[in-house]
Amino acid sequence: MNPDDLKILVHGASGRMGRAVLRLAGERPGLRVVAAVSRSGEILPEAPEVPVLPVARLAEAPACDLVIDFSLPEAFDAALAACLARGAGLVSGTTGLSERQHAALDAAALQVPVLWAANFSAGVAVLHALVRQAAAALPSWDADIVESHHVHKKDAPSGTALTLGEAVVAGRGRAPHYASLRAGDIVGEHLVQFTGQGERLELVHRATNREIFARGALEAASRLARRGPGRYDFGQLLLADG
Ligand code: NAD
Repeated sequence: MNPDDLKILVHGASGRMGRAVLRLAGERPGLRVVAAVSRSGEILPEAPEVPVLPVARLAEAPACDLVIDFSLPEAFDAALAACLARGAGLVSGTTGLSERQHAALDAAALQVPVLWAANFSAGVAVLHALVRQAAAALPSWDADIVESHHVHKKDAPSGTALTLGEAVVAGRGRAPHYASLRAGDIVGEHLVQFTGQGERLELVHRATNREIFARGALEAASRLARRGPGRYDFGQLLLADG
């Protein structure tokens, strides 16, 4: 693929995240959305020039270098199959995937570059490292993760909460407790709380605008274009390339 003329297919295009990706993709030089896939196949106002295919006609989508997927677990397999059929890389932010689907990502990474991240914000990438450090330093304290999202979010705990939980386990060998709140239009908040005797450490990230996730996914796409087949980590990709 040519990193200076990346051809992108957006899967899950009519959703909150898909529309944000379409809106922002036009601002990035070197990257072109060649088609979008949505359930209905209706033209999307965020990118009226982009051809939109209904899900049933995904196989007819044009050749592309990368698929950017923000959909739902039930739609994810088709997005991954579309990548493999085209030899295209995958940037996916779809959460709530099953173990089978994560294993399928590993298998696909033998053939194409694959980056799945529960959270495409730079702040959460840094939060992971801080949580791991705190968990290792405070192994006997209680660890709790409280996540809050808008009422339309389907999975709980959030994918981000679960990956922060993996950072806790990496630091101290035991999983944290999770609590999930669904309220109003909250874009996404994650509090990781370590509680000892007479003191408490709170690490918190608040997303106030979902465009940060779309920008992060587009940044990941540009960086992934320079890589070969393999499974990549969003935080490492950001830090490795500066
Ligand atoms: P949404 O419900 O607004 O959009 C979901 C999209 O999937 C829609 O376009 C819908 O048409 C499409 N879809 C549903 N079923 C389908 C099917 N069977 N085939 C094809 N497409 C189908 O959700 P959203 O808020 O845009 O979030 C999408 C995903 O991204 C969720 O899993 C969410 O948790 C995740 N998310 C990730 C990040 C991140 O940074 N990684 C940030 C926000 C949201």
